[in-house]
Amino acid sequence: MALVNIHFLNLQNNYLFADIAKKVNAFKVMHPKADVISLGIGDVTQPLCPAVVEAMHKAVDEMATADGFRGYGPEQGYEFLREAIVKNDFAPRGVRLSLDEVFINDGAKSDTGNFQELLHWDNFIGVTDPIYPVYIDSNVMIGRCGTYRDGRWSNVRYMPTTAENGFVPELPKGRPVDVIYLCFPNNPTGTVISKQELRKWVNYALKNDALILFDAAYQAYIQDPDIPHSIYEIRGARKCAVEFRSFSKTAGFTGVRCGYTIVPKDVSVSTFEGERISLNQLWLRRQCTKFNGTSYISQRAAEAIYSPEGKQQVQQTIDYYMQNAAHMLDVLRKLGYECYGGENAPYIWMRTPDGTTSWQFFEALLYGANVVCTPGVGFGPSGEGYVRFTAFGSHDRTEEALKRIKEWSNK
Ligand code: PLP
Repeated sequence: MALVNIHFLNLQNNYLFADIAKKVNAFKVMHPKADVISLGIGDVTQPLCPAVVEAMHKAVDEMATADGFRGYGPEQGYEFLREAIVKNDFAPRGVRLSLDEVFINDGAKSDTGNFQELLHWDNFIGVTDPIYPVYIDSNVMIGRCGTYRDGRWSNVRYMPTTAENGFVPELPKGRPVDVIYLCFPNNPTGTVISKQELRKWVNYALKNDALILFDAAYQAYIQDPDIPHSIYEIRGARKCAVEFRSFSKTAGFTGVRCGYTIVPKDVSVSTFEGERISLNQLWLRRQCTKFNGTSYISQRAAEAIYSPEGKQQVQQTIDYYMQNAAHMLDVLRKLGYECYGGENAPYIWMRTPDGTTSWQFFEALLYGANVVCTPGVGFGPSGEGYVRFTAFGSHDRTEEALKRIKEWSNK
């Protein structure tokens, strides 16, 4: 008899975006002529930049010849891309990495979800709250989160990041946390962490022999020169942290699929007997077994963002989205809304007015202004009373959405 992994049955129906789509569809059925604008979903809208397109065409042409054809690539990714990453993303920030510490993947979602496989099932995990849902759900799948009640898992330490604490999560008190998920710039709050605050987390991890899983998927949006892009800018992080990066939001690769994970050779975890196990070796072993690499074409595409033209073009698109973010912040604040994020990230986190819940505000905005936002509570209990707006729309549509929000708010 084939038995199910019962932990999957514990997964909560986190259909945030499906629920949003259902509600938007119901609205459209009732209002077929309405022109709905989505500032909800976190997908990008602007096309791939010319340097990337050219590199992809070239890679396809190569693959069409007997000499240039490529089959399975190296499991960790092609050296040309790993070299470009080490040289461009880390060396200028004073971070030295060797090529075998870089693992190319098909996007950060896979690795942020899969990495927990390397860890014993009864590690105690901590997450900042609200948070990208993949971290918790992937731990639920292996039975690590305990039982679910009133919107919380019993074996997860939720570390609130809200306006009340200035979006700076406090270090866990009481039972030490073994595995800590941090995401900065943060999805969904759009807020960032200073070097000083991040140092506290690294020191906590070193002191408690904990592991930090640091998601830097939005680092390219940081504008403030003092904000760290990588956790390895903090001394000691090589011993306690793994970092996830993505080309999705950096260069519009949500459909191309490519990202990477840094697993330093100094980071290790313990057996019950106290033997130290290198996560770099274990992750390599895992990847060689379960992952056959990212396509050559995607890796050549990613390499192209590090060429002088690629860098400039990618930056133009990031600037484009950040212009939306600045404009959104300006308009929403002038309307009297309390807004956070949006300065070093493409997300604006807005407190719902007059104590309305996230979903109530979502519906009111949809019906009143035909604009879609994302209810904050979908990202965790501390997200209640907030909504998320994304800056990934076109200028025209964002402008139109803001105009409508203004008219609706002033009614
Ligand atoms: N990490 C965070 C915080 C995200 O918001 C996302 C996507 O929205 C991802 C990772 C996944 O990105 P990718 O497209 O690289 O899988």
